[in-house]
Amino acid sequence: MILPKFTYAKPKSIDETIELYTRYEGRACYLAGGTDIIPLAKQRLVAPVIVIDLKNIEGLKTIEKNDDFLIIGANTTIFDLKKYPLTKEYFRGFYESLDETSCETLQMRGTIGGNILQNTRCLFYNKSIEWRTARGFCFKMGGAVCNAVPKGNICFSNYCSDNAVSLITLSAELGFVSPKGERRINIEEIFSGNSIKPFNLEPGEILTRIYIPMKKNSGAYEKIRVRGSIDYPLINVAVALKDSGGDVSIGGVGPAPLSYHIDSVDENSVEALAQKAYSDVKTVANTVLTPSYRKRMAKVLVKRAIKRALQEVK
Ligand SMILES: Cc1cc2nc3c(=O)[nH]c(=O)nc-3n(C[C@H](O)[C@H](O)[C@H](O)COP(=O)(O)OP(=O)(O)OC[C@H]3O[C@@H](n4cnc5c(N)ncnc54)[C@H](O)[C@@H]3O)c2cc1C
Repeated sequence: MILPKFTYAKPKSIDETIELYTRYEGRACYLAGGTDIIPLAKQRLVAPVIVIDLKNIEGLKTIEKNDDFLIIGANTTIFDLKKYPLTKEYFRGFYESLDETSCETLQMRGTIGGNILQNTRCLFYNKSIEWRTARGFCFKMGGAVCNAVPKGNICFSNYCSDNAVSLITLSAELGFVSPKGERRINIEEIFSGNSIKPFNLEPGEILTRIYIPMKKNSGAYEKIRVRGSIDYPLINVAVALKDSGGDVSIGGVGPAPLSYHIDSVDENSVEALAQKAYSDVKTVANTVLTPSYRKRMAKVLVKRAIKRALQEVK
């Protein structure tokens, strides 16, 4: 598949980037590693007039630490972050989700910023223009039907980032710069809950940094995928244990991750949480695995991840 024509720009600063974005407002898109946006462009699912490459911007590829936070530049590759020694030592669940993101070739190209801001996916959406034209355009393509759920009146495409769920369990914050100024928010606030436009982002907003509270914890990450060597999660669960309680997040099953907190981790609270996850997870037939299997696996993965995180504590 060949790319459509677009203008390509590689600014060196945030100011230059914002100036360019403003000039092309509504017709520009950002590119980091390109592993999500380029396939979408090839499939004619995005059609930017200009692609603004963020890779040359100073300071977006650094990993720093102060007393309170690990501060990660949005352009840091998944591979560099995985190899950074404190990731594994402090944030075991996050380390595992980085390690299980696709394959190492992709990890060396894909950035953590692009991973968080990747688009939602559906078996009936991530297809060639010819396939989609034959089938009829769905809600996410501006059409009036859902091709996955007959008579469905919303889009059910899934947010499949491996790493957003583990960052949620770590209470990570995101720093942005836009034509309107700067803001810093909890990661959960970026999710709109709408699969068509999954993020609450201001026009032109650039994700600059990810802040993880510098609190060592034990954790684990579990993921179901078809090909263990490369695939996206069809359901994923991250756990971080803190003091006697824990945070759990579930992804790959709708427009935004689900998240839970338990005050104390014991047999009863884990069983109750697993049951709650099972009833909350609403899967539909929009992946290669059946909805009922993915729903059942919510329960299994929650228990499995907590069990592994507890073993790590011992
Ligand atoms: C074969 C294959 C397998 C994959 N498997 C997985 C997987 O197992 N798990 C998984 O999580 N993902 C997977 N992906 C998706 C993707 O490759 C990764 O999520 C990757 O980390 C995306 O990062 P990127 O830098 O390449 O993003 P890009 O494609 O450059 O960008 C993704 C989106 O984020 C926006 N963006 C990027 N950086 C910024 C920023 N700083 N500010 C504002 N907007 C920004 C872009 O405009 C774009 O909309 C896979 C992709 C492919 C092609």
